[in-house]
Amino acid sequence: MAVKGRFAPSPSGRMHLGNLFSFLLAWLSVRHEGGSLVLRVEDLDPVRCQPAHAWQLMEDLEWLGLTWDEGGESPASWQSNRGHLYAAAFEALTAQGLTYPCFCSRIQRLNEAPHLHQVSPSCPCAALTAEEAAQRALERQPSFRVRVPHETISFTDALQGPYAQDLATQCGDFPIKRSDGAWAYQLAVVVDDADMGVTQVVRGRDLLSSTPRQLWLFQVLGLKAPEYIHVPLLLAPDGRRLAKRDADLDMGALRRRYTPQELLGLLAHMAGQQDSDCPVTAEALAQRFDWAKVPREDITVDAALLDPTY
Ligand SMILES: [Zn+2]
Repeated sequence: MAVKGRFAPSPSGRMHLGNLFSFLLAWLSVRHEGGSLVLRVEDLDPVRCQPAHAWQLMEDLEWLGLTWDEGGESPASWQSNRGHLYAAAFEALTAQGLTYPCFCSRIQRLNEAPHLHQVSPSCPCAALTAEEAAQRALERQPSFRVRVPHETISFTDALQGPYAQDLATQCGDFPIKRSDGAWAYQLAVVVDDADMGVTQVVRGRDLLSSTPRQLWLFQVLGLKAPEYIHVPLLLAPDGRRLAKRDADLDMGALRRRYTPQELLGLLAHMAGQQDSDCPVTAEALAQRFDWAKVPREDITVDAALLDPTY
């Protein structure tokens, strides 16, 4: 069966070097195998996401020669247009008695940071009777959590190796729908990866701790889970993770300093695919791509890269 990967950007700002590193590895892995890619726009949060960022991101990927085969401009691949699928999954979980309304106010903040591994605080709402919940719902709109079992979910990441998590103690009941109606990241990615036939997920290893939750959702929803490959993060010389606030490393700045081939050469060197950062095309890299050469540990980028005067 042909491998199918995905780009799943959140259009909350310009793509930066760290995002690009993950996207490049996802693309190389699939293209090396002759597989296909879908580009899905993860714009669940109407406050943080703007369509203009998605258009810019697609243009940046095209500039680099990182092509996709499905999705992208198609409205059906934007999460903001896919709520009916998440609602159906939510109903399926509810029919199994796995959801409950939560009236705690912290849930919104928890939901805003899917990249951070946070154990949900023990939520008293899990113990509310249906009558009590109905009474509380008259006063405020609840969010919804999914009730996790005391079960250890384990899997083998293709790069990071074996990983296991006890959902009840290491994760806790997690939010799947916000009180304002927005769907949670964890539910949406599972539904989308299954619906889009994704067989391989390549993403930053900051999301490793989300994976057991997602595998469990695949299982209870009767869906087929993809293979996971969690790649290293790029770090600044002082050890902090590169983020969208490092404007000197966003695609606007990078495109002023480098040609596509020069930028790919730099990233290919970081990814262990060549001995130097000499310029290279995406196609040439795809032909010789080798996962065995990709480092597992986070990568500290050269200080010169962060220096706008360089
Ligand atoms: Zn609660």
